[in-house]
Amino acid sequence: MFATMGALGLAPTAAAAAPAYRAPSPADFHLTGRGRARVAILGGGIAGPAKAYELGKAGYDCTVLEARDVVGGRNFTVRRGTTETDLDGRTQQARFGDGVYLNAGPGRLAQWMVTLDYCRGLGVPIEVFTNANADALIYNESAGMTAPVRFRTAKADVFGYVSELLAKATNQGALDAALTTADKERLMTFLRSYGSLGSTFAYAGGSRRGFAAYPGAGNDEDTPLAGPAALADVFASNVGRYFSFELGYDQAMLMFQPVGGMDQIPKALGRAVGGHRIKNGAEVTDVTDTGSSVAVTYRQSKAVRVLHADFCVATLPPHLMARIPHNLGTPVTSALAEFGVTAAGKIGLEYKRRWWEEDDRIYGGITETDLDLQHIWYPSYGFHGRRGLVVGYYNTGAAARTYSALPHAEREARALAQGVTAPSSRPGRWSPRSTSGCSRASRRAGPRRRSRCAPSCRPARRRFPGRRSTAGRSPRARSRRSR
Ligand SMILES: Cc1cc2nc3c(=O)[nH]c(=O)nc-3n(C[C@H](O)[C@H](O)[C@H](O)COP(=O)(O)OP(=O)(O)OC[C@H]3O[C@@H](n4cnc5c(N)ncnc54)[C@H](O)[C@@H]3O)c2cc1C
Repeated sequence: MFATMGALGLAPTAAAAAPAYRAPSPADFHLTGRGRARVAILGGGIAGPAKAYELGKAGYDCTVLEARDVVGGRNFTVRRGTTETDLDGRTQQARFGDGVYLNAGPGRLAQWMVTLDYCRGLGVPIEVFTNANADALIYNESAGMTAPVRFRTAKADVFGYVSELLAKATNQGALDAALTTADKERLMTFLRSYGSLGSTFAYAGGSRRGFAAYPGAGNDEDTPLAGPAALADVFASNVGRYFSFELGYDQAMLMFQPVGGMDQIPKALGRAVGGHRIKNGAEVTDVTDTGSSVAVTYRQSKAVRVLHADFCVATLPPHLMARIPHNLGTPVTSALAEFGVTAAGKIGLEYKRRWWEEDDRIYGGITETDLDLQHIWYPSYGFHGRRGLVVGYYNTGAAARTYSALPHAEREARALAQGVTAPSSRPGRWSPRSTSGCSRASRRAGPRRRSRCAPSCRPARRRFPGRRSTAGRSPRARSRRSR
């Protein structure tokens, strides 16, 4: 009778109850034969939960001790409501719009990274991160540039002139010792194509540089760009120094990001591991190897507790592990002391209008500068949306320390003063299109992150803090302002 009701649509059938087929994946690997050995995992960034996830599948009983209130560590996404207190006690709270976020730490994943396998296994959707964009800009103030130039134009000119020079050297016999006649012919063919050279193997510009106005249909002709500048001027502009970036093994034109923010990965790992296995707000203060086990002392809610385990895995950054009292011996202590830290800073600027798409025709990618803001990132999500967030600076080293030394409001003002504007409409100094700022500079990681920036600001401006740091402090900040 049940089957009859099912056939009439009055009851679920066996077929309807069957779960959809899902192909097995490597992440389904489980081992339960091992005893319930206990493992204390220090640090709940990305490595700690990943370790607990893998060991958990092998039957280990893992506990993650994380000093902060959330998992993720440097993998940190700022969105509305995110609150951060810097080392000097100043607190900021992000008030970005719906769906707007800043990846204050990592922001892009290479295709070979195992991180993508975790995304697949844990069901974290990913999307393309545009790392290199022919329509993004280059601006080298110290080289005398008075306006930014698009990557495609800079590449056309540099590749063109380099090809022209190499063709000359080849034709004049300078490479005869290294090349056969056939080799030279092949090289010349390549150079003509690579550099867009004419029949005389001279570079004279061309359409790959782009246009001031692109050609349309019929009689709607293009308006050429000025240039190219002379060979010496192109090399003097030093635009070519940015071209090799995407060739790095951990970079590429095409990269990936989790939909909705990089912290979707540690969140998914945390869910897979189980909340009961992750102790947040637990700052490790001592690690003692007792010979047969390990005793990890930690502070949580002002109470001092000890976790006894059979094994301990430390995923803290080495320079932080070095500060934790332990009895692991001199070689370990010396090895930990070898690691240094570097400074990094980011500011998130939310805009009411996506001017970089609407006016400048830049859809994702990175503008490169020799200013101390260094890199400007355009968002690889929310294309054609109403609002959007630009990473107004992403810098490292001395440049990050320069920004970090400023109060939050001054970081934002500096980023905007150095900021970008349309490449063609406003030659000369770039000027900001709008504002809303959020900045972060961070030291590699720390048990407690605190901003040293003033929250402050005009009432019209809402800001979230930044944390930054140099070798002992980390701040980060972010804010939003409407145009
Ligand atoms: C600005 C920036 C940009 C980056 N960009 C990229 C990128 O685009 N792509 C990429 O792949 N990688 C990138 N990285 C590197 C990447 O973020 C790190 O490799 C990765 O997040 C490190 O994870 P982890 O778990 O090893 O360490 P962490 O994330 O540092 O985690 C360590 C954890 O230990 C905790 N902790 C510290 N002390 C204690 C204590 N005493 N007790 C308990 N817990 C403690 C910390 O709070 C933290 O949560 C970037 C890093 C930064 C800073």
